[in-house]
Amino acid sequence: LTSPPAPAPATDTHCPYCSLQCGMRLGRGTGASGAEVLERPDFPVNRGALCGKGRTAPALLARDVRLTGPLLRDRPGGPLRSAGWAEALDRVAAGLARTRAEHGADAVGVFGGGGLTNEKAYLLGKFARVVLGTANIDYNGRFCMSSAAAAHRRAFGLDRGLPFPLADIPHTGCLILVGGNPAETMPPAVRYFRELRENGGTLIVVDPRRTRTAELADLHLQPRPGGDLALALGLLHLVIAEGLVDKDFVAERTTGFEAAREAAMAHWPDRVERITGVPAHQLREAARLFGGAGTGMVLTARGPEQQSKGTDTVGAWINLCLATGKAGRPYSGYGCLTGQGNGQGGREHGQKADQLPGYRSIEDPAARAHVASVWGVPADSLPGAGKSAYELLDGLGRPDGVRALLLAGSNPAVSAPNAGHVTERLRALDLLVVADMVLSETARLADVVLPVTQWAEEDGTTTNLEGRVILRRRAFDPPEGVRSELWLLHELAARLGVTGGFPTDAEEAFDELRRASAGGDADYAGISYRRIAAEDGVFWPCPAEDHPGTRRLFLDRFATPDGRARFAAVTHRPAGEEPDDAYPLYLTTGRVLAQYQSGAQTRRVAELNAAAPGPFVELHPRLAERLGIADGEPVAVTSRRGRAVAAARITDAIRADTVFMPFHWPGAGRANSLTNPALDPVSRMPEFKLCAVRVERVVTD
Ligand code: SF4
Repeated sequence: LTSPPAPAPATDTHCPYCSLQCGMRLGRGTGASGAEVLERPDFPVNRGALCGKGRTAPALLARDVRLTGPLLRDRPGGPLRSAGWAEALDRVAAGLARTRAEHGADAVGVFGGGGLTNEKAYLLGKFARVVLGTANIDYNGRFCMSSAAAAHRRAFGLDRGLPFPLADIPHTGCLILVGGNPAETMPPAVRYFRELRENGGTLIVVDPRRTRTAELADLHLQPRPGGDLALALGLLHLVIAEGLVDKDFVAERTTGFEAAREAAMAHWPDRVERITGVPAHQLREAARLFGGAGTGMVLTARGPEQQSKGTDTVGAWINLCLATGKAGRPYSGYGCLTGQGNGQGGREHGQKADQLPGYRSIEDPAARAHVASVWGVPADSLPGAGKSAYELLDGLGRPDGVRALLLAGSNPAVSAPNAGHVTERLRALDLLVVADMVLSETARLADVVLPVTQWAEEDGTTTNLEGRVILRRRAFDPPEGVRSELWLLHELAARLGVTGGFPTDAEEAFDELRRASAGGDADYAGISYRRIAAEDGVFWPCPAEDHPGTRRLFLDRFATPDGRARFAAVTHRPAGEEPDDAYPLYLTTGRVLAQYQSGAQTRRVAELNAAAPGPFVELHPRLAERLGIADGEPVAVTSRRGRAVAAARITDAIRADTVFMPFHWPGAGRANSLTNPALDPVSRMPEFKLCAVRVERVVTD
């Protein structure tokens, strides 16, 4: 192994993984990576604290775990072989051009990722629309927080994961965390919840599992998977019944309360107990704690969002905030704990099928005209909205679908719902091009694999879950043979006849992004690399260089045309798939502390792999006894879409009608072989969080 050269003495940057984007300092190390993570206590979000993923991130810089040169496949089913960049890029450009000529521009697709920097996400969207002319670009963030984003925009007219800084959390009176487990997904954030309790506030956690986060709570509500919508409606019912509605706030700052009230009144406590399994006395306690607190917050994560009713579920929790006057005020509000490192920025700059940079609608004529003027193309040359992520993947290789796909920063062969089917669709493509730093399970299926730089080897911005735009700095040179996605797009654009407009320098790309976003919802016009470095990040919207940035949104007015927040009239409905005689249990999926997303990175880090070496199935002791399953035995979990086998982990932390699997692994234990791609009608989010399964002991002798 050789180590990349390190600059002296150290570089302030950020973790490559989750949306907390912890600050860290990178210095010269002695291991295979040549890098060492040092504490950076002055960055306010994590104050020097890192989880094991962040601490071990330099392991991915070592040459033995990553790609160091392009790979090509000469015939379908043949092996991947090493190639030079010129040959690889010529192959990609020729394949994209041929597909476009033979089948039309929409037969070429682009699939991005929520881990890409803002600059890459921005130029990927521009590449799809200007160079390829395709409507079909979407990204894996559609699988992450799209329901929260849709509900946020519907209620408030604007979507920023948290409309307040994390530092406000300890000062709220009561916080309800729905379907999130930051103690495992972003451990340094737990201190905000601990400080909340130390300050006398109340923490309520809603989760079908008694997670490490639920163990910190004053009250844990443990609904059936899919019960979150009914639970929120039941709480609103009780808040109304107990006279805890903030009538002045509702009258002055909201619209639509009456329809929401009528819907909630049909969800009386006994009915909600039957639907959710949460005892009515716990519902009353939660309603009194939240409704009676002077300030309060509701935070959602993937639990309520990754459902075929995810937008309405989040809307029901927002209704609860609005009815009790807990939005648009200091230390109160609704927020979403975004997942991926650039989950927030990744959705703002144009890699989403229905949006242009600045978080603008692609159907809005004024937005199209503005972005087209920055790009120097006619507005009517820009395509309209394309297919959402799962619909795009489901159509791969079909006569009316995408036949050539450029994929960057994503591993859908493991992370997409119904992943066995998605893998078949990827195999059916005429051309699959994957840009990644490692040979992921999806890259193994590709015709061309392009090795790209990592966080410590390039400059670039991300936007954390607070809407704080931060700067990752290049600390090391990438290995010979590895290139940035910015360079790839520049080279491919030139080969496809577009010279200019695709800068290879990240700061230059960011300055163009600022112009493209100016005047949009996510306005970055006043944010520069210089300011970010000087100010520990800058919160959007920030329309001018002398604007301070916006730490707290909605304090004076909401971002709707009339300035009022909108209630959503939503009612309970079943999940896309409920248990029945053939599949009598709920499956819910999630994350573990030592792995990240599809595991493509973290499964290559020895320390993380040792801590979390493989998948498992959590079962309640009563269920295990009924099925004759002992702890540690292999069990088969079967849904209508597939089968997965993993070791049983027996625990009373889970409901007896539900089993849990983490989704970080490929192969026989791939949890997403089972999950249901039923889509939310508004956000097009698949229903990752629950499906019906049966569980059986695997007889090995
Ligand atoms: Fe990285 Fe998230 Fe861990 Fe912080 S909490 S070190 S950002 S993975």
